Amino acid sequence: MLSERTQRIKPSATLAIDAKAKSMKAQGIDVLNFGLGEPDFDTPEHVKEAAIKAIKDGFTKYTAVGGIDELKDAIIRKLSVDNNIAYAKEEVIVSCGAKHSLYNIAQALFNPGDEIIIPAPYWVSYPDQALLNDAVPVFIPTDEAENFMLRPDEFESKITGRTKALILNSPSNPTGSSYDEKALVAIAEIAVRRNIFVISDEIYEKLVYDGTRHISIASFGGEIKKRTIVVNGLSKSHAMTGWRIGYAAGPKDIIKAMTGIQSQSTSNPTSIAQKAAVAALTGPQDYTSVMRAEFDRRRKTLVDGLNAIEGVSCLKPSGAFYAFPNVSRFYGRSVGARRIDSSLDMATYLLEEAHVALVHGEAFGDDRYIRISYATSMDIIEQGLDRIKEALSKLK
Ligand code: PMP
Ligand code: GLU
Repeated sequence: MLSERTQRIKPSATLAIDAKAKSMKAQGIDVLNFGLGEPDFDTPEHVKEAAIKAIKDGFTKYTAVGGIDELKDAIIRKLSVDNNIAYAKEEVIVSCGAKHSLYNIAQALFNPGDEIIIPAPYWVSYPDQALLNDAVPVFIPTDEAENFMLRPDEFESKITGRTKALILNSPSNPTGSSYDEKALVAIAEIAVRRNIFVISDEIYEKLVYDGTRHISIASFGGEIKKRTIVVNGLSKSHAMTGWRIGYAAGPKDIIKAMTGIQSQSTSNPTSIAQKAAVAALTGPQDYTSVMRAEFDRRRKTLVDGLNAIEGVSCLKPSGAFYAFPNVSRFYGRSVGARRIDSSLDMATYLLEEAHVALVHGEAFGDDRYIRISYATSMDIIEQGLDRIKEALSKLK
């Protein structure tokens, strides 16, 4: 029969909702899809050209397991220029997406019973990746009033003799919040003093608004750097979700272990996608600014529109491309035989009755919220707001 570990996890809720919305669409239902966090922009032309050239040049064979030197050099340069952190080649691994890098970290670091601190709301895959690797997720709820940032004192109070790592995600999926320097310095001080690894998922670093500056916790000096594994990728910054290129940078021994695991599981990330990633990291970066400006416009429309709906409250996110409105005031209300008591009830109601696909907050560890991805057109956002407003007004 199936392994015991398969019973511990559930499939990714974000991917499941996207699949459901797409299948309803295929049946001819006019679904507005706010489910998936994936830029609706095309991959930049020069990136595609680099991949086409790689195919034509016959660059279609196995490469070094942890990525080609040319790509590692481009990543090292990026981490130095953008994040002010110096890494050597042995401290970098390229994987099949940031999700794969995160999984490799879990495989390389977690032992049975290790506790992994995960501030909630969190991205759906963190707890399940810990569970798949026999570790124990330890959640710390964060508060909307504190911008969903982990409080350093709460972090410290949850550390036990079994605590192995903290997973930080700034800017955050699903809340869109970003940590400021003061909070990061305080968290870093505790991680160093208590000897805890920090897994820092920075995949949304390029998508920040209102003058927010992304800071990597690994940039605060040697002591925190040697306990941090920075995770990033091309999916969000260069609209390259399907190419599956992500990377991690951290201590040599951890990267070596991750490379060994990768050599026994996937081998190298796709050769032509690696060439495309080199072009993405070394070519013009204006595309990212164009995407960011458009996301910013949509963010304002969506968040203002949500806050204008009676009973809904939504913090203005400073990063990523998600709004995370609180809809708990509708819990306990009904329309006909349908009663809404949870974020799943709400997401199901909005999907089935208003044909609006979004993700229930419970999948991210907070049942009071729903997640709406604004990586979709302004027109769809405006229609979606109308539909949500109408559906919510029916709940009595
Ligand atoms: N981290 C976060 C917070 C994400 O939202 C995602 C979703 N794409 C990933 C990691 C993984 O990205 P990918 O595997 O496409 O690089
Ligand atoms: N990270 C995106 C999301 O949260 C893509 C889906 C996934 O990788 O789970 O929607």
